[in-house]
Amino acid sequence: MAYVKALRCKQCGREYPAEPINVCEFCFGPLEVAYDYDGIARAISRAKIARGPLSMWRYAALLPVDADNAVDLNAGFTPLLKAKNLGRLLGLSELYVKNDAVNPSYSFKDRVVTVAMTKALEFGFDTVACASTGNLAGSVAAHAARAGLKAFIFIPADLEHGKQVGAAVYGPTLVAVKGSYDEVNRLCSELSDNYPWAFVNINMRPYYAEGSKTLGYEVAEQLGWRAPQHCVVPVASGSLLTKIWKGLNEFAALGLIGSVDTKMYVTQAAGCAPIVDGWNSGKMLIRPVKPNTIAKSLAIGNPADGYYALTTLRDSGGSAVAVPEEEVVDGIRLLAETEGIFTESAGGVVISGLKRLVQSGLIKSDEVTVAYITGNGLKTQETVEDLVRPLIIEPTLTSFQEALKGR
Ligand SMILES: *Cc1c(COP(=O)(O)O)cnc(C)c1O
Ligand SMILES: [Zn+2]
Repeated sequence: MAYVKALRCKQCGREYPAEPINVCEFCFGPLEVAYDYDGIARAISRAKIARGPLSMWRYAALLPVDADNAVDLNAGFTPLLKAKNLGRLLGLSELYVKNDAVNPSYSFKDRVVTVAMTKALEFGFDTVACASTGNLAGSVAAHAARAGLKAFIFIPADLEHGKQVGAAVYGPTLVAVKGSYDEVNRLCSELSDNYPWAFVNINMRPYYAEGSKTLGYEVAEQLGWRAPQHCVVPVASGSLLTKIWKGLNEFAALGLIGSVDTKMYVTQAAGCAPIVDGWNSGKMLIRPVKPNTIAKSLAIGNPADGYYALTTLRDSGGSAVAVPEEEVVDGIRLLAETEGIFTESAGGVVISGLKRLVQSGLIKSDEVTVAYITGNGLKTQETVEDLVRPLIIEPTLTSFQEALKGR
């Protein structure tokens, strides 16, 4: 059973019944799930969590759905790896990589989609839909297949080929829109008024977003029930960043971990960095931009949770960093060559962003730091295509020896 009390407006605090709605009628603020934390406190403990499934559903008491009927591909409980090689290179002795690239559809989006899809079934929808920057497409298509729901997936027409294939294979109706993600999203908002569908990141957004909290819970559990000192996060709409922060603070409020002294960091690519710009302006204000970046999964020019991402940076004492476009691939290569993890462009942004945060003195050598790797490199192979330069040889020993000499 879920411990949901209501939906509450993040702006004015008005409460609404838990329905498929996402905006406050009075002030147009976003709605967020409010919980009965006393009930949760009675139901949850470290021991109970540890006995739970090896997936994000071990935190079911803190999610807004009935876990017994979950649309579940086993998202979550991904590795938290101590990154000794990369740490040595950057001068960090306590660096960890949260490898969420190994989820069922190869990105962290499975965490949000499994919750949204479960809620869509609870509400009785027979069709799900989404506006995607890439990874959401594959995850919604996969979970819809598993749930036996019809799926409409709206993507910008210039999306990486690997991400289109990674959605199309599950058999949804894939709609390529000739426009940016922000235009796709605007179209989907209009569609959601005209079609009785569950748009996972529009009318289901309050539930959807809660799935990201598990990236806070899991890291805290895997660190031995404590919060890290620094979380370095790739940011598009801003939702993931705010929910990691919410997750850590819920764990502390429930007594599952001690106090949270975590600083949160936004990383974005320079070609689409409206939240970094907003932070640097010091005005707590987001000015929309027109994205032009190779980090397509982060290419949201008008971020829905941008303001809340800024308040999270302020409340946690964190900061924000934009990574020059040419350093995105450097970050992908650095993580692959030092730790054996192949991430997509968003992960390249995180690793190069981390490097800059260390150089600027914000992260110090012995502080527990987690870099969130949220998507898989096999989906954006074109970004590192020119690394493929094999020695081409005949199937003979001499040919190999000659090639080796000439290398
Ligand atoms: C969607 C996405 C993000 C960021 O998500 P928001 O919650 O919209 O900020 C980060 N990394 C990857 C790989 C993504 O696909
Ligand atoms: Zn309101």
